[in-house]
Amino acid sequence: MKEKNITKPGNYVTPPSPRERAGERFLIDNHGRKINYLRLAVTDRCNLRCFYCMPEEGIDWLARKELMTYEEMLRICALLIKMGIEKIRITGGEPFVRKDIMPFLTELSKLSGLKELTLTTNGVLTAPVVPELKKLGIRSVNLSLDTIDRNRFFAITRRDELPQVLETMDQLLRHGIDVKLNAVVMEGKNTDDIIPLVDLTKDLPVSVRFIEEMPFNGTGTYHPMNWDYVRILQTIKEQYPDIQKITDPQYSTSYNYHIPGHKGSVGIIAAYTRSFCGTCNRIRITPQGMLKTCLYDNGVLNIKDLVREGRSDQDVQTALLNAIGNRAKDGFEAEKNSVHESMAAIGG
Ligand code: SAM
Ligand code: SF4
Repeated sequence: MKEKNITKPGNYVTPPSPRERAGERFLIDNHGRKINYLRLAVTDRCNLRCFYCMPEEGIDWLARKELMTYEEMLRICALLIKMGIEKIRITGGEPFVRKDIMPFLTELSKLSGLKELTLTTNGVLTAPVVPELKKLGIRSVNLSLDTIDRNRFFAITRRDELPQVLETMDQLLRHGIDVKLNAVVMEGKNTDDIIPLVDLTKDLPVSVRFIEEMPFNGTGTYHPMNWDYVRILQTIKEQYPDIQKITDPQYSTSYNYHIPGHKGSVGIIAAYTRSFCGTCNRIRITPQGMLKTCLYDNGVLNIKDLVREGRSDQDVQTALLNAIGNRAKDGFEAEKNSVHESMAAIGG
């Protein structure tokens, strides 16, 4: 029988759209959501110690043999692209602390069918490689920046690296790479930074995105999240009453805004409130090779074991389809019975 284009468990959708007729594949979960975005965490290690992500002493780092090798990751990425993944984001931990990350990114960027390669970084080691990132065709980078005050940066990350991060932002902009600045909003830590960060959008073409704090600090404890997206927006509106809602891109996890006269834009990500699960198009692979079909689940498939058992592409594909065909409806369902790890061990 002729193979259909839609890699969906169960019934296939007919008739085929023009893209399907052109041979493109679509990966659809059991709730009808298209999955076309992979977030791949290449390490759990990091050169910062952001207190919302991990304790000061760090976490129990994975032994090298527990990490997926670059070859294993390339094989799985190639397979997932054939199944319908179009965009891959490299994350961690801090991607640039893993040895030989640039040759890996180079190989990844060559995978046939990949439409977008992007990454999330803390920016400490990134500035010198920005020209290479540009050459690889990376068009957009997410840079974590919770404050532009050096003392508060130290208090949050436990490292004095703000100048390096700002240099990375500068280099990215000089090379024409889109910059999204990610700021986790935390009571008593950086709420005074909300307006100074928004002010950056006046002269810089950056998108500043405020993220609700999630319970992934690696300590097993969590304080109440009292800065939700409503409160963050209200705080911005007090300073900028003429801020305007703009159209959110398809699959966007942020509510997006623009202040008249500003070059950049502002986004708010309701990561804890989880208002975007209905259109979630993403899956994750952790540094140790676990597939997560939701940020809040415990990992639903050990891909690394399948690969190291010598399973065929067909077997791995079947296991992936099965996992994606049994996806939780939303983060609240996925969270049941799940343990909250450090975000560095998940790949935020
Ligand atoms: N090290 C890189 C960085 O910081 O950009 C990439 C990995 S980091 C885990 C990815 C993103 O997760 C960062 O933007 C960070 O701010 C966010 N993050 C980490 N812990 C978080 C938490 N508890 N709540 C919300 N966002 C968090
Ligand atoms: Fe490191 Fe990123 Fe976690 Fe900060 S948020 S400790 S930079 S992995």
